[in-house]
Amino acid sequence: MAGEPQADCLFCKIVAGEVPATVVRETEHVVAFRDINPQAPTHVLVIPKAHYPDAASLAAAAPGLAAELLAEAGQVAADEKAEESGYRIVFNTGAGAGQTVFHAHAHLLAGRGLSWPPG
Ligand code: C5P
Repeated sequence: MAGEPQADCLFCKIVAGEVPATVVRETEHVVAFRDINPQAPTHVLVIPKAHYPDAASLAAAAPGLAAELLAEAGQVAADEKAEESGYRIVFNTGAGAGQTVFHAHAHLLAGRGLSWPPG
């Protein structure tokens, strides 16, 4: 069922505390932790605790939670002092776009110049 934890999902295991992560922010519905393979000085993943396979399915099934996720990403950006230099929030969606973990997550990237378009 949409939103239910998935036994084979790495990020559900992080939410459950079964896989370690460096958590920087946690609310009732959202958790943010440092990416294990950072692509910028600040690289934080912001995820819903509930399982949705990608950002679009999250937004379709639970728009309030999707909005909360974005607001929390903005709060993490503020906490990381990323607002002045600017930052990027990325949702890789689908394997062809680089998605490797099929639990919706926002990448918050900051702390270096970010070129456009992304590769
Ligand atoms: O967008 P994508 O699905 O590729 O992002 C998954 C991210 O999860 C990767 O950036 C990867 O480094 C990160 N990851 C992590 N901790 C793990 C496994 C993966 O931060 N234990």
